[in-house]
Amino acid sequence: MPEAMLELNDVHTYYDHIHALKGISMTVNEGEIVALIGGNGAGKTTTLRTVSGMMKPRRGTLSYRGQTIAGIPAHHILNRGISHVPEGRRIFKDLTVRENLDVGAYTVTDRAVIEQRIQEGFAFFPRLKERENQLGGTMSGGEQQMLAIARALMVAPKLLLLDEPSMGLSPLFVEAIFDIIVKLNKERGTTVLLVEQNANMALSIAHRAYVLQTGEIKLSGNAADIAQDESVRKAYLGDD
Ligand code: ATP
Repeated sequence: MPEAMLELNDVHTYYDHIHALKGISMTVNEGEIVALIGGNGAGKTTTLRTVSGMMKPRRGTLSYRGQTIAGIPAHHILNRGISHVPEGRRIFKDLTVRENLDVGAYTVTDRAVIEQRIQEGFAFFPRLKERENQLGGTMSGGEQQMLAIARALMVAPKLLLLDEPSMGLSPLFVEAIFDIIVKLNKERGTTVLLVEQNANMALSIAHRAYVLQTGEIKLSGNAADIAQDESVRKAYLGDD
């Protein structure tokens, strides 16, 4: 049996009176890449926000490595090893690449550890090393996405939540970002919960997937099986 890292059980999350998640139950096992796909407004972003503590579920349970995380402040969840790269890669545009990484390590107090992680980040993303002193806002969209991921890695997360990492990127950068996700998973053993509009790409790298529709899980299973599912192909993979 695979070991469950993250478990959501009947999770309901609201924006005021808008019932965005209507009873989500899902599992992410240690070492997996799990894709969360679905159309606009399905609740993908809300699911990640609920896991990282940015939003509080009104009902249901969330547990991470056997401990409850529902209702716990976001920085405590981060400290336990869950790091969230939000949609739209909110890097600090007026800070350099190095300064952005430094800020990402705000929960780490040991300077030597911070420096070591910056160097590990540069080894992982040579493109960022070349741009160490460049302002974040002057980099290309793909480079900013790399920086957003590198920043999230500064806390050495066990579980990485990625919200639409390929959004707005050129095809070459989309490939590069997906390669990085696979490398992170294989080489560092980082578990990944990946939200994507680009369902084809997401399903090609994921082990398992959940399909969300209007706040509910419509389908789940092995990514390869989901990619073959006729209703999924019609709705999300561009088949007629
Ligand atoms: P997208 O791909 O369009 O980002 P999504 O699957 O990530 O979609 P969510 O952003 O999680 O979907 O939205 C789920 C529901 O919650 C939608 O009905 C949306 O309109 C609503 N919602 C999202 N953010 C807010 C907000 N800040 N205030 C009110 N309602 C919101």
